[in-house]
Amino acid sequence: MNKPSIIRIILRGLIRRCPQCGIGHPFAGYLTLGEECPHCHESFQGIRTDDAAPWATIFVVGHLLVPFVMLAIEYDLPTIPFTALMSVLGIVFALAVLPVMKGVFVGLNWRFNIRDGKAR
Ligand SMILES: [Zn+2]
Repeated sequence: MNKPSIIRIILRGLIRRCPQCGIGHPFAGYLTLGEECPHCHESFQGIRTDDAAPWATIFVVGHLLVPFVMLAIEYDLPTIPFTALMSVLGIVFALAVLPVMKGVFVGLNWRFNIRDGKAR
């Protein structure tokens, strides 16, 4: 069976859908990957994203927070309340972005058949 294009796999990962069929939800929990797709039964055995998803999350969230920091510098906002607000905002953004990045890297590892950390 032909695998979908990388762009399609990334888009399916962004909405946390199965990289093969785009219909099933391969996740059994917030970040826990199921054994197979409930729709097409594609196996996700051995697919791990390790540090890739957290790395990409830090990259994305950092860029999302930069405009707020620039506003704080421009308008000389009080440091302690702003730092508290940014901490909360950073945690909320990270919790929202992490499962999305996990979906993308699960799809990419599936596409290149990287299982248990090794290309097969
Ligand atoms: Zn599927």
